[in-house]
Amino acid sequence: MPDGNAICVVGGGLNGAAAALALAEAGWPVVLVDRHKPKPSPSALGVEIRNVALSPASRAFLEDIGAWVAGAPYVRMHVWESLGTASLDFHASETGRAELGWIVEVGALIERLWARIESHPRVQVRFGSVDGLEVHDSGVTLRVDGEAVSCALLVAADGAASPVRNLTATRDARYPTGHAALVTAVRTERPHEAVAYQRFLPGGPLALLPSRLPDVSSVVWSQPPALASSRVEASKEAFLADLTCASGRVLGQVLETDARFAFPLVQHLAQSFVAAPRVLLIGDAARVVHPLAGLGVNLGFEDAQALLATLPVSGDPGLADWRTFARKRQARARAMLRVMSALRLLYGSDSPWLGWVRNVGVRTVSESRGLKSQIMREAMGLGPMATSMR
Ligand SMILES: Cc1cc2nc3c(=O)[nH]c(=O)nc-3n(C[C@H](O)[C@H](O)[C@H](O)COP(=O)(O)OP(=O)(O)OC[C@H]3O[C@@H](n4cnc5c(N)ncnc54)[C@H](O)[C@@H]3O)c2cc1C
Repeated sequence: MPDGNAICVVGGGLNGAAAALALAEAGWPVVLVDRHKPKPSPSALGVEIRNVALSPASRAFLEDIGAWVAGAPYVRMHVWESLGTASLDFHASETGRAELGWIVEVGALIERLWARIESHPRVQVRFGSVDGLEVHDSGVTLRVDGEAVSCALLVAADGAASPVRNLTATRDARYPTGHAALVTAVRTERPHEAVAYQRFLPGGPLALLPSRLPDVSSVVWSQPPALASSRVEASKEAFLADLTCASGRVLGQVLETDARFAFPLVQHLAQSFVAAPRVLLIGDAARVVHPLAGLGVNLGFEDAQALLATLPVSGDPGLADWRTFARKRQARARAMLRVMSALRLLYGSDSPWLGWVRNVGVRTVSESRGLKSQIMREAMGLGPMATSMR
C-alpha cells in the first residue's frame, strides 16, 4: 500500500475526509494528505461554535460510509425580513418528511470521519504540506514536505485557498459578497423548538440555527466586514442587546454568548474542476458559495458521490471521463452562485421597488404549494436538479 492505482486526497477537512473514506469503502487504495488532523472549535455553552446544516441527502451519504453522527434536527425554517412584511415558513411535513435537515457540530463529525479513516485498511495517512506536483501520462507525483508521493489520481479538497489549484495554475473567478460572517453560539430566553431562523437585515442575513440543547442556537450573521469586527470587539452586554434587537426577539432576549469570530466571506468558482489531467478539485477548493445557502459541505459530499459514480469499477482511475464530472459539478455550482447573486440584489437594497418585488415573490412562493415543495426538495438535496448533477 499504496499500489499503482492509489488515489491521493489532499485535505482532510469534512469534504476531503468524507471523499477519502467513500473511495476506500468502494475498494480503492487511498493516501490522505493533510498538514495536521483538524481540531474542534470552542464550545463554552456546551455546543461547538462551528457547525454545518446537513441535508437528508448528505445524511444518507454519511450513513452509507458509516460516518453519520447525530445532529440537532430542524423541522421548520422561518425566513423573514426587517424591512418588509412578508415571511416564509418551510415545514418538513410539506415534503412528507420528519426533518428538513440537521445542524451537525463539525468537531464531532470530523472526529468520526478520522476515526474511520485511521482504522481503515485501505487508507494511508500522510501528515505534511503539499508544496509541489508533477503530472505524467500515467500518474501524478506530489511533493509533501519535499518528499515524493505517487498516485494515479489526485483529488484536491484542500480548501478555498487550494494550494493544488494554485500549483496547477487553474483560474478562479471571484464573486464578491460584501460580507464577513460573525459566528458564535448563544443561549436565548425561549427554546428554539427545532426551528431554524433566517432574517434578512439591511446589512445582511442573520441565521439562528437550533442546537441539540433546547435553549442554545448557533449564530451566522453576515454583514459588512467593519461592522462584524466592531461586533466582535463590542462588550458582551452590548452584543447581546444588539443581537436581541437584530433577531426581532424571535427567541426572546439573547442571554449569553460564546466567543465571537469574524471572517471574510468570499465566493469563488474554479474555471475547471479538472485542474490538470488526473487532478480533480472538490469541496471548497472547487467553489465556495455564501453560507446563507448552507451548502458548502452538502455540495462537497455531492462531489464525492459524483466522483464515485464516474470512477471505473477497477483499473486506472485516471482514465475515467472526468469532463462529464466537471461539467455537471460546475453547472450545479454556477446555479447556486446565481441564486446567491439574485438574493444579494433583492435583499441588499432598501429600494421600495425591490421591496415590492420581494414581497410579491415571497407571497407567490408561500401560496404555491408545488413551487414551495420543489424549492425545499432541492435544498434537501432530493430535487431533480440536485440528483441529476451528482
Ligand atoms: C460561517 C459559515 C457557515 C457555514 N455553514 C454551512 C452549512 O450550514 N452547511 C454546509 O454544508 N456548509 C456550510 N459552510 C461551508 C463549510 O464549512 C465548508 O464548505 C467546508 O467546511 C469546507 O470543507 P473542505 O473540506 O472543502 O475544506 P477545509 O475545511 O478548508 O479543509 C481543507 C483542508 O486542506 C488542508 N490543506 C490546505 N492546504 C494544504 C497543503 N498545502 N498541504 C496539505 N493539506 C493542506 C487543510 O489543513 C484542511 O484540513 C459554512 C461556512 C461558513 C464560513
